[in-house]
Amino acid sequence: MTQSLTQSQGALLQGWGRSTGSRARVRGPLATQELSELLAGCPEGGVLARGAGCSYGDAAQNAGGLVLAPATRTSIELDVLGGTVRAAGSARFAEVLAKVVPEGLLLPVLPGTSRLTVGGAIAADVHGKNQRADGSLGDWLESIELLDGSGQVRLLTVDQDAEAFAATIGGMGLTGVILAATIRLIPISSTRLQVTSRRAADLDALLDELDAAARTSRYAVAWIDTTASGPRLGRGIVDRGDHLTSEQEPLCYAPARAPLAPRLPIGPFTPVTARAFNSLWYRKAPRERSGVQGLSEFFHRLDAVREWNRSLGPRGFLQYQFAVPDTAAGLLGEALTALRRAQAAPFLGTVKRFGCTGVGPLSFPLPGWSLAVDLPVASAAGRARLHAVLDQLDQRVAEAGGRIYLAKDARLGRAAFEAMYRPLDDWRAARARLDPADTMRSDLGRRLGLCP
Ligand SMILES: Cc1cc2nc3c(=O)[nH]c(=O)nc-3n(C[C@H](O)[C@H](O)[C@H](O)COP(=O)(O)OP(=O)(O)OC[C@H]3O[C@@H](n4cnc5c(N)ncnc54)[C@H](O)[C@@H]3O)c2cc1C
Repeated sequence: MTQSLTQSQGALLQGWGRSTGSRARVRGPLATQELSELLAGCPEGGVLARGAGCSYGDAAQNAGGLVLAPATRTSIELDVLGGTVRAAGSARFAEVLAKVVPEGLLLPVLPGTSRLTVGGAIAADVHGKNQRADGSLGDWLESIELLDGSGQVRLLTVDQDAEAFAATIGGMGLTGVILAATIRLIPISSTRLQVTSRRAADLDALLDELDAAARTSRYAVAWIDTTASGPRLGRGIVDRGDHLTSEQEPLCYAPARAPLAPRLPIGPFTPVTARAFNSLWYRKAPRERSGVQGLSEFFHRLDAVREWNRSLGPRGFLQYQFAVPDTAAGLLGEALTALRRAQAAPFLGTVKRFGCTGVGPLSFPLPGWSLAVDLPVASAAGRARLHAVLDQLDQRVAEAGGRIYLAKDARLGRAAFEAMYRPLDDWRAARARLDPADTMRSDLGRRLGLCP
């Protein structure tokens, strides 16, 4: 999110975790014709479209090159009868929701923040609490209007240039600039959801409860105590939610303005404070609770404080999110144990049940389980120790047939990436066709060998 400009060096751009950063020339928003001429000219250092900078690592950075931030102007056109919305790549989810909800329609996939953009959401093939029931965003796209790496506008659908369509979904901005997309919406008759939360005493109970919740409710997610050990390992709270069907007039989406988080000189989380915070959170939750929640409260709790990422210390934090098949569910407990033993102070953890594989070769979801853990970066030495543990976990995830979520990643190595996402030949072939001059580039892409 950080974007401070010094004329000679370019702007410093960071991800949400604020643990990485690089400088680039920044332009935008530009009209399609200008963008097209710009890409056709292959600017030095390459080009990357940036959304709201909500990816945690270096996905929206392009050191020494050009970053379009935002690439396009915002526009949102709603087709109420058809139940679709055509939104510009730079339109934020919050802006789209403000337009569609009053018509009784909802975006089919809502990640944990409403600040992200449509372009960033497609480029990461984002998932929500309903991944098992509804898949990820790529499953709901009618079309993508892509400005490819050579500056040519293409209309991509599941039938029309299907390889380019799939390569762009989850393609992390490396196939071109998403100018706009048409997304199918789901009907709602209320902006409220019936939500039930249940405590689970250990990992087996948590996974059983979450599995049952994801099979019978549209939305399901678990908060997991990242610091509990022994018989309490993996304890947590499972939330399930379903839209209320009662008529409620008028339907509107107007979240309260969130207060800005303070910038703290040191990070608040150590192994001791992380344990205290997690234990308290678990213990203060009743065994079972049922109630009604609004859209923002249920889907975007983390948006209640603006830029909370600034409060986690000057070195920022990493989020480690992986997905593994059912056969490797034990890796969730193994990862938490390894992080605790390494004194990594994991302070926030989430588990989701995944149903189907994503549309794109670089899409993250696969049938099984996903664990996401936030980890503070306390010092240079602490970072090195953390990377060493995560490198070992990467290997375990790869061996189990799982993968790391690129939208959260800031450090995955090339060999582990290639073991997780394979075969990549189709994606590479589509990119070679869409961007023959290798114009689209990012720090993440270079790190993982996806671009020069
Ligand atoms: C608090 C929080 C909660 C989150 N919860 C979830 C969650 O529940 N599920 C989930 O899946 N993700 C989640 N995320 C991650 C987030 O959804 C993704 O990182 C998403 O990609 C961010 O979109 P953005 O607009 O900020 O894009 P950026 O972070 O700016 O960019 C991400 C990628 O998209 C590309 N991109 C952006 N715009 C365009 C464009 N117009 N054309 C082509 N490429 C483009 C960039 O090049 C980059 O590779 C969460 C993030 C935060 C901060």
